[in-house]
Amino acid sequence: MPPETVEVRRSSRRRRTVSAYRDGEKTIVLLPAGLSSTDEEQWVRRMLDRLAAKEQRRRPSDDDLLDRAIELSARHLGGKAKPSSVRWVENQQHRWGSCTPEHGTIRISTRLRGMPSWVVDYVIMHELVHLLVPSHGPRFWALVEKYPKAERARGFLEGFSTAANGAAEEC
Ligand SMILES: [Zn+2]
Repeated sequence: MPPETVEVRRSSRRRRTVSAYRDGEKTIVLLPAGLSSTDEEQWVRRMLDRLAAKEQRRRPSDDDLLDRAIELSARHLGGKAKPSSVRWVENQQHRWGSCTPEHGTIRISTRLRGMPSWVVDYVIMHELVHLLVPSHGPRFWALVEKYPKAERARGFLEGFSTAANGAAEEC
């Protein structure tokens, strides 16, 4: 990774809040005017760590996805769905996710990258339930609904498909 270009902006109007964001190649850290230089250094480091952690959550690796799938199965499905692998795939334009129940493998469209983690988790959950129930019947949806943000995530994905003008199906 190249060294980060960090620009610190101090504002007298920004009395209490500290924030950081990426602007192209630069990272902007906004700080209140009254901080000492020692405090400034600490805040900048802290905000950069926080930003990196947030980005990591939004760009999970295949291993991260598998960990999340195992966790979701344990929490909402009593551990009954046993995924063997979960990975990102590029060639999935019309589905957010897919799976092969015989092998316990789940594939997640890279189009979900950068979406909130609770939306990605929903798609993982959908595929996990397919490992147990192949079709979209009442038993399938009853299990999917164990994920608390299921309805909200469906709304999010529908909105996204509409905005992108290309409908992707859940699976
Ligand atoms: Zn499905």
